[in-house]
Amino acid sequence: MADKRKASWGSGELYDLLCLMMLGTCVWVLGVQLGAFRWVDRIILDHNLSDVFKLGFFMGMGAVAASVSKSIRLLKAMRERDAAEAQAAETARHDPLTGLANRRLFTERLEERRAAGSTGRLAVLVIDLDRFKPVNELYGYEAGNAVLRAVGERLGRTLPEGSTVARLDGDEFAALVETGTGGEGLARLAQGVITALSAPVAWHGHEIKVGATVGIAAADADDGTAGAVLHAADLAMVQGKRDGRGTYRVFESAMDEALKARARLEADLRVAIDTGQIEPYYQPVVALPGQTVTGFEVLARWRHPEQGLLMPSTFIPVAEETGMIGDLSYLILRRACLDARAWPAHLQLAVNIAPQQFQDSDLALRILAILTETGFQAHRLEVEITETAIVQDLEATRATLGALQTLGVRVALDDFGTGYSSLYHLRELRFDKLKIDRSYVNSIAEGDERAKLVDAIIKLGSSLGLVTTAEGIETETSVDWLASQGCDYGQGYLFGKPMPRAEIERRLVEGLLDTGPAAPKPEIGPRTVLTEKAA
Ligand code: C2E
Ligand code: MG
Ligand code: MG
Repeated sequence: MADKRKASWGSGELYDLLCLMMLGTCVWVLGVQLGAFRWVDRIILDHNLSDVFKLGFFMGMGAVAASVSKSIRLLKAMRERDAAEAQAAETARHDPLTGLANRRLFTERLEERRAAGSTGRLAVLVIDLDRFKPVNELYGYEAGNAVLRAVGERLGRTLPEGSTVARLDGDEFAALVETGTGGEGLARLAQGVITALSAPVAWHGHEIKVGATVGIAAADADDGTAGAVLHAADLAMVQGKRDGRGTYRVFESAMDEALKARARLEADLRVAIDTGQIEPYYQPVVALPGQTVTGFEVLARWRHPEQGLLMPSTFIPVAEETGMIGDLSYLILRRACLDARAWPAHLQLAVNIAPQQFQDSDLALRILAILTETGFQAHRLEVEITETAIVQDLEATRATLGALQTLGVRVALDDFGTGYSSLYHLRELRFDKLKIDRSYVNSIAEGDERAKLVDAIIKLGSSLGLVTTAEGIETETSVDWLASQGCDYGQGYLFGKPMPRAEIERRLVEGLLDTGPAAPKPEIGPRTVLTEKAA
């Protein structure tokens, strides 16, 4: 680089020298050959001037020539500098990969358009790709870059002429569009973007598929600053992601509050898991028709310091989405195993395991570690999975299921009838139990058709060698009917709501839970009640 500069400097100087020499030659030709010096001589003679004046005159001419040449060079350098500055400014405002505007230019354009006012409706779309991360992981960064470039091109084609399209960050894009047609036009546009970006991208013989979620915010001058508009569109996009991706959402002011509350909930839940605010409740499971208690389903409760006892529906989905579900479930399992050690040895525990946990190839090992640590026997434990786990990855589910059963842990298919599982899954995977969802059980009284369905599920279970549990039994009528149809176990408010450990132990000691003739009443008191520490 330095050499290059030196070379160009050298040739510049030589060029200047040659120019000056040419100039000198021209002066000589003009003066001597064409006689121009004669009128100079005449002036000197007429005005009685000395030869020194003649010398000064030619030196002055030389100086003028030198400064003209210098000025030309300066002008050229200034032009070059201006061009380089313009080039740098252009680069600083564009994304090098896609050639689209970057966040800086997008914000500037947004400000400009808002200040200028517009006749139609000005809106900002924030477009975030779905399932982009696995593209990099599976095919490498080159493939990821190809997808991003294709997205840039497709956005350019799909959005109306005159729109500003930008790549904000990673797999997040934005568009500033003007539509005269209002809400409906925007909705159509957003849907068009989603469709365009969902088409596969061809890359080295692969068909790479991503999707897109779009957030829309009005960008007219009275809607806060440009930054606030972008933030609003971003919030709407995040809401779209939460609602299931591949969709669009228009910003509403309530979203801001909802997302802040959600962020608080996530932070609080992390603390709750770390400090043991999540605790197991136990709901009795009874054998039919005798209704003796055979064990308990373990259900998580959050003893929130300000909001009191929170139900799983408020925090389990958050734990699942944020990846905290593993820590939460192992915490609950560990505490339940410790609690149940002091209870009659034939009582079983059933714990719920989230679908994502079934994709963890170490699930069986982690459960084994907890069983070993707490001294709880594997044959007393049942794991409940929902149908979603099977649909996500059949092979991973099969492997985990087999590993658990090898340990002696039984596996139940929870909420049967509410998910997507088919007879194929039931045949492919060897479950030990079917839990009939309470939406079926509750409806038994409503009409014959529903009762026929429950009956069919019980028969299906027994034909596949599975025992069945009916969930959500609330009335004596339904329990009698279920028992008469051959349902093996029942669970529901009729036999007991989920209770904390202290309540279970009080009932055990007072003989309020019929745990069958085989079970002697446990001696649970301050001496034998196990705490986590004592264990
Ligand atoms: P689930 O596993 O199907 O649990 C049964 C749910 O039905 C419990 O709700 C229970 O309180 C409720 N229930 C039981 N009998 C009756 C009844 O007679 N009537 C009515 N109306 N409801 C009844 P809960 O405790 O709110 O739990 C809801 C769901 O949250 C559970 O459904 C389970 O999927 C999930 N869950 C709870 N604890 C955990 C956990 O530790 N880990 C995971 N991954 N999921 C959990
Ligand atoms: Mg369950
Ligand atoms: Mg259930």
